[in-house]
Amino acid sequence: MKKATYNDIAASLALITSLLLTLNAKAEQEGWLSHGYDYREQRFSPLTGINDKNVAELGLEWSFDTDFNRGLEATPIVVNGVMYVTGNWSFVYALNARTGELLWKYDPQVPRAWGAMGCCDVVNRGVAVEDGKVVFGTFDARLIALDATTGELLWETRTADIEQWPYTITGAPRIAKGKVFIGNGGAEYGVRGFIGAYDLATGEALWRFYTVPGNPANGFESEALEQAAATWSGKWWEFGGGGTVWDSIVYDEELDQLYIGTGNGTPWNRNQRSPGGGDNLYISSIVALNPDTGDYIWHYQETPADNWDFTSTQQIMLADMPWQGKLRKVIWHAPKNGFFFVLDRESGTPLSIEPYAYTNWATHYDKKTWRPVETAEGNYQANPGAYITPSSLAAHNWYPMAYNPGTGLVYIPVTRTPSVYDELQTDFVWGRWNVGVEIEKNPITGMPGLNQKVLTKLYSGHLLAWNPITQSEAWRLEHASGGNGGVLSTAGNLVFQGTSSAELIAATADTGTPLWRYDTEVGVMAAPISYAIDGEQYIAVAAGWGGAFGLIVRLDEKNVIPQSRILVFKLGAKNSLPVSDNSLELVEIPPQTDATSEQLDEGLRLYTNHCLVCHGAGVSSAKSIPDLRNLPMVFYENFDKVVREGMMESAGMPNFGKVLSKNDVQDIYAYVIYEAHALRKEQEPSIFDPIINVIEDVVSTIIVWWITD
Ligand code: CA
Repeated sequence: MKKATYNDIAASLALITSLLLTLNAKAEQEGWLSHGYDYREQRFSPLTGINDKNVAELGLEWSFDTDFNRGLEATPIVVNGVMYVTGNWSFVYALNARTGELLWKYDPQVPRAWGAMGCCDVVNRGVAVEDGKVVFGTFDARLIALDATTGELLWETRTADIEQWPYTITGAPRIAKGKVFIGNGGAEYGVRGFIGAYDLATGEALWRFYTVPGNPANGFESEALEQAAATWSGKWWEFGGGGTVWDSIVYDEELDQLYIGTGNGTPWNRNQRSPGGGDNLYISSIVALNPDTGDYIWHYQETPADNWDFTSTQQIMLADMPWQGKLRKVIWHAPKNGFFFVLDRESGTPLSIEPYAYTNWATHYDKKTWRPVETAEGNYQANPGAYITPSSLAAHNWYPMAYNPGTGLVYIPVTRTPSVYDELQTDFVWGRWNVGVEIEKNPITGMPGLNQKVLTKLYSGHLLAWNPITQSEAWRLEHASGGNGGVLSTAGNLVFQGTSSAELIAATADTGTPLWRYDTEVGVMAAPISYAIDGEQYIAVAAGWGGAFGLIVRLDEKNVIPQSRILVFKLGAKNSLPVSDNSLELVEIPPQTDATSEQLDEGLRLYTNHCLVCHGAGVSSAKSIPDLRNLPMVFYENFDKVVREGMMESAGMPNFGKVLSKNDVQDIYAYVIYEAHALRKEQEPSIFDPIINVIEDVVSTIIVWWITD
């Protein structure tokens, strides 16, 4: 054996020193480098500075007010002490992660009228950062790269033809192998879903994978789409077909595969979408692709012939899991439909599928075919008017879940969302919801006067700690209502979650015991993250209420526009939130009309189908979008012009001229004015208030008990 020379030893020592330096640097400057922490998207921080022994000392270090007050869904990215986070209208902010100082911001100038082309608020779920570039998608379907240091525009690529189809981007791009991957949304309106890959250096489009086939007369882009076309019938391409890749895109380093989750079909109603039946591939599926070429590798369809807007776009988490004596490379997935899927990610074959929430659309999945066994109740075309759970509002939606390798548990934000589905024959209207389902009898609207109380009880929610191996519940933490935020887990035996009732909570990861609560002043949807600078650990979260669930449901009737903010915490900090006075006074409104009860019913029906998703149940809005019960007089006087002539289109209010008649708008107006007067009556104190409260409580409890299992 050759004797080691002085030079060899010196070289080894230098190597060890540099390794130690690297490790030390990693410990002192621990960032949050990509959307789900790393490629596995487990959202687990190895930091232990904040832990179950000291979390009670956590306090606000800094906050940053964003430019708007609508829903925040972004996961901040922290690289080299800089936080990159997105707000409403696809704004990007670069902040000093230690102090909150604004370093730069970028306004991509999204046309406000395009706000009407998204189902679920003008949100954005974040940026991707690599190679000195900050990459993000815009609401009008552009992909943009900025210089991470200066915020200057490097390149901009239009990803979809929005002249032809109402595409939007709300998801965070992912970067791997020098490529940026991004999909889009729009399946409620009617688009053809796809994911694209773009060159990180130039923005040049490299490949595109359509998730559903186009018109067969034009030929197919690939063999995979030719095979998919055999599972469709009718003229689905006229509605676009759907299957949009609006959230989860995950790169698997070990197998060199890209996984995408696809959305619902257009319309939701399968009888209208594909009248001759068929599974309608590749909607509501996980599809594995070759990241270099976009070629199809495998798929598994979680909801064949999706009839309910269940989608499979929710977070795809990668893990290694012991299964029947072998370590298997798996995907963990908890999509909207209420079942937890464990898939072998080499083949796409399920290992186990069990319900993580109450479901009545299917009893279970057959263990030979891995197909759901649907119930008669779930088939609303044959049995109109049944309560279906979960519904389009999801047992678990895009809100990120987290995993803790110390406990072996996955933490899922779960909501109970029963809704009535009725078939509605619709002609395709460009730029409008084209879902083929009547949501008129939805419980959230069928009970005027009790709306919010019934709503918050009916849509209850909890944080679920789930064992993915045994497919069983370890513990649950009940919240005030549903629609609660995404989750972070840390090596300090903690889970962090924001709630719809405006709290950020830390609980123990092993038992779910709450240890710390912070009043965020606004409901939280986004997932917290953690990072460290110079050895000090921070917890950060984007707090802003809105999104699909939040625009309809809320927990209070406060007449305040809540401020959407970034909040950052560390041990021992004692700062407080700036006082923002966005309270709204009740203004004078027009007198109640002499509308008939038929007219009010029709107004309620039309409101539910056209206005509710933005202006809220019971005409009670989240206030970031105008509450129609409390408008300046000019808007009541010009109600028809606003609704049917696009008077407020530049502010994001759609022009309904093509879908609503003058008579329709008169009925909606009558219903809105009715609710406006009801609000004022409610706010007049009365000696009967305590009794009325008790009666409302009892009645809403009975209704909830009757509707749910
Ligand atoms: Ca959808």
